Amino acid sequence: MSDATAVPTHCPYCALQCGMSLRPTGSPELPVEVVDRTDFPVNRGALCGKGRTAPAVLSSRVRLTEPLVRCPDTGDLRPATWEEALAAVADGLRRTRADHGADAVGVFGGGGLTNEKAYTLGKFARLVLGTSQIDYNGRFCMSSAAAAHGRAFGLDRGLPFPLEDIPRTGCVILVGSNLAETMPPALRYLTELRENGGKLIVVDPRRTRTAEQADLHLAPRPGTDLALALGMLHLVVAEGRVDEEFVEERTTGWAAARAGAMAHWPEQVERITGVSVPELREAVAMFCDAGSGMVLTARGPEQQSKGTDTVGAWINLCLATGRAGRPLSGYGCLTGQGNGQGGREHGQKADQLPGYRKLDDPAARAHVAGVWGVDPDSLPGPGRSAYELLDALGGDVKALLLMGSNPVVSAPRAAHVEGRLRSLDFLAVADVVLSETAALADVVLPVTQWAEETGTMTNLEGRVLLRRRALTPPAGVRSDLEALRGLAGLLGWEKGFSADPEEVFDELRRASAGGPADYAGISYRRIEEEQGVFWPCPDEDHGGTPRLFLDRFATPDGRARFVPVVHRPAAEETDAEYPVVLTTGRVVSQYQSGAQTRRVAELNAAAPGPFVELHPRLAERLGVAEGERLAVVSRRGRAVAPARITTAIRPDTVFMPFHWAGEGRANTLVNPALDPVSRMPEFKVCAVRLERDA
Ligand code: SF4
Repeated sequence: MSDATAVPTHCPYCALQCGMSLRPTGSPELPVEVVDRTDFPVNRGALCGKGRTAPAVLSSRVRLTEPLVRCPDTGDLRPATWEEALAAVADGLRRTRADHGADAVGVFGGGGLTNEKAYTLGKFARLVLGTSQIDYNGRFCMSSAAAAHGRAFGLDRGLPFPLEDIPRTGCVILVGSNLAETMPPALRYLTELRENGGKLIVVDPRRTRTAEQADLHLAPRPGTDLALALGMLHLVVAEGRVDEEFVEERTTGWAAARAGAMAHWPEQVERITGVSVPELREAVAMFCDAGSGMVLTARGPEQQSKGTDTVGAWINLCLATGRAGRPLSGYGCLTGQGNGQGGREHGQKADQLPGYRKLDDPAARAHVAGVWGVDPDSLPGPGRSAYELLDALGGDVKALLLMGSNPVVSAPRAAHVEGRLRSLDFLAVADVVLSETAALADVVLPVTQWAEETGTMTNLEGRVLLRRRALTPPAGVRSDLEALRGLAGLLGWEKGFSADPEEVFDELRRASAGGPADYAGISYRRIEEEQGVFWPCPDEDHGGTPRLFLDRFATPDGRARFVPVVHRPAAEETDAEYPVVLTTGRVVSQYQSGAQTRRVAELNAAAPGPFVELHPRLAERLGVAEGERLAVVSRRGRAVAPARITTAIRPDTVFMPFHWAGEGRANTLVNPALDPVSRMPEFKVCAVRLERDA
């Protein structure tokens, strides 16, 4: 249905960035309503419950509509004017910098911020604060896939092809992704694949609603999918299924990768993973017998202390079988956060400058410094990764400016991170509600929500999209861009920080020009006319790039690089004291730390709180009944939630969703062991014991 009074925009939540339109209602209770936007190709009007109910947060009673400043006498947050609040933030940051140096001030961003905000936040950190200490919560999302992409292909874009290609490939291996819960409208691409005669293999320790749709479900022990991919590659070689011509013409490094795979015998892989040799053989036959194929990974293989190598193993499988750099074939990562893709391209990541340039590359520094009108030598170098930055709070990082993130709930070893945040000399948070992290702040800045502001997002396909402002924000609320411009002015940067999103985007285009993620040819006008534009798009006559690598990979010699990998155990294995594996994830009716979705009655009714999913055999051993309170204890802490008993999970594994704070906070338990390349924490596997919580 189209509606002339409705403003076309996109959902505020995940990286699918479903198209929707918003129509003003005139009602203060619900100022806009969602209207289907069937012309947008990614979701064709379909939305999940989160998207449909998103307007509820706009008028929620818990919405912040005035700044808050902590009162030194009472210790409570009290209302303040914007002028007072911004002056307090500027003073806190300035004082810390003067007393302890620029790197004592940290900045933490989010994968939900628009490209314009992510760009401005990175510029603000490096120019105004002069700090290297900036990173963002997207590090916890897809950084392992990004690192593996870069290593193998010379370029990181989540999907190197549009979603519309999926139904036309021969076989999809979906690894550690539960699309039915995380991105329901995307499930139809897999349904259409099977309707077209294609095959679907799902790799997941749980028999999820997505796995139930598969032709073959492989359920490895959490943290062993690297071995699984190596076992499949072993069989590809042993059964003579290598695409020798592709390997010869389009790749380098095959000999070492082959040797690594041949060291992983199928029987050995069966012992490590729990996936039987016949299942392995069936998977290899299904993948290789189809004329084309894709491997799609998500957080399962990526959120591990060996996430980069695990993704690398799946990429090696694609390269050896010629399932990359060809039409309807390839490896892709299903990015999670709304702007998980764009957020990692434009400078809020510790080691990056806009356009996916490297902060330690002299030519990149010179280009961006030229756009910013500063001396390249004035730009700080790379800083710490997200968990390392959070872990340093209260140590050498003494003040923090945080936008678009709620690490008290979403960070690994969350109780420790909460303690680090409490130990800061100064904390400023910009958010739309008083999240668990904002509640700890010295100053809280109430900012606009998606429907109240204009800005671009880049979805999991690399398609740059435009969200148009559909309604006026409440009095007392300002955009993040206005807040940053105000702070920059108070800290001596009267110029160079615009609050106009289109002006910021035009500067971002210049800063990204010639870089790997080149947005130079993308404009707001083009995005609207073309239903999004795929980067790279180096000039206005360029049509954008929906499909990458068809002629050459983005490496200096144009060839994809095999990277030899070997299986290694998770950083923390089970033992007599902690005999069960914990894995964490999401449910369909909540989103990430729940800061927004836990404020929506309809979503809370569907998913009111945390739970511990466990197999009946494990429940019987513990003497636990359905719904009984169960304590999950790891070396980091303890979380308590009701038991949910199901045969859909391995008997040696329990699952907890991570959307809630309080006693059921799953991330209290999570091991912050980091991947050596991506610095991704090991959210997906740690050792726990279970206790009845009488
Ligand atoms: Fe929003 Fe993602 Fe749901 Fe689409 S799938 S409606 S983008 S949360």
